[in-house]
Amino acid sequence: MGEFDLIRRYFQRPAVAGVEVGVGDDCAVLVPTPGARWLVSSDMLVEGRHFLSTVDAARLGHKALAVNLSDLAACGATPRGFTLALALPRADEAWLAGFSRGLLALADAHGCPLIGGDTTQGPLNICITVFGEAPPGQALLRSGARVGDEIWVSGRLGDARLALEVFRGTVALAGDGFEVVRAAMECPTPRVALGQALRGIATAAVDVSDGLLGDLGHILSASGVGARVEVDALPRSAVLAAQPQALQRECGLAGGDDYELVFTAPRGAALPDVGVALTRIGVIEADPGLRVVDARGTAVAHGLRSFDHFAA
Ligand code: ADP
Ligand code: MG
Repeated sequence: MGEFDLIRRYFQRPAVAGVEVGVGDDCAVLVPTPGARWLVSSDMLVEGRHFLSTVDAARLGHKALAVNLSDLAACGATPRGFTLALALPRADEAWLAGFSRGLLALADAHGCPLIGGDTTQGPLNICITVFGEAPPGQALLRSGARVGDEIWVSGRLGDARLALEVFRGTVALAGDGFEVVRAAMECPTPRVALGQALRGIATAAVDVSDGLLGDLGHILSASGVGARVEVDALPRSAVLAAQPQALQRECGLAGGDDYELVFTAPRGAALPDVGVALTRIGVIEADPGLRVVDARGTAVAHGLRSFDHFAA
């Protein structure tokens, strides 16, 4: 199977509305919604760095697009399409079939067609660029949090990190519990509908990819504010809640790979119900920095940091 057979077989799909030219020419040609703003983001997944070489190919295809859709969700964008730059060690048909199935199932679920890309031989590396749209002035940014806003998080935090600790051998989980947290790590759900529903309501938003402390920290520095977060209020699964308190806090505060949305909204704002749990975890304050407290309001010393590829 040659390069072009591979592209045709696994990545070329019938044309859809809004895409005049998709896979197959030198460029894709998209039809913009009149007046809309484009929102564009790229995320790369490197074997051994972002995923284990043993991960199921369909789950990897799903995750590669999910982490990109999560960035669109964080900005309240409507997905319009994506490109896929793929380096593969070899043309393994079983792997390609699984990968493209997981990838394109999520793309279809969000009406986000694959419109082009590049394919090359090399160490397994997956880079996706997503394109989305939002009405002018309505993209959710990191810079809009105001003193007195409440801080909310969607879904649950910490399961992906707990699964990683099981793979690392530092935690043992039996049967079902492991499958629950493993699915959170390998098959995250991007909060695309929530992000769009928060347009005009949230004052700032970010998705949790590197860990709550660091990602909320991006909102704080971009907005020029501080925050108080109640660690015991962080939403967590029953599997995580059964772990020792220090591990629960580490996974919830610094875990990463959650792909939940953290957003700020004025106190009392009517929040949308899109079938995703929303939990209030803290409040924006004028004092810079992030203060972690327990349920009684006592400061919690944690010494935790979010993930950073180049941290010393
Ligand atoms: P060029 O040489 O002009 O860059 P390529 O030969 O790399 O074009 O790709 C041929 C066509 O296939 C282009 O339309 C490109 O966007 C598409 N394509 C290549 N790789 C992928 C991929 N992994 N997924 C989707 N489309 C792809
Ligand atoms: Mg090319």
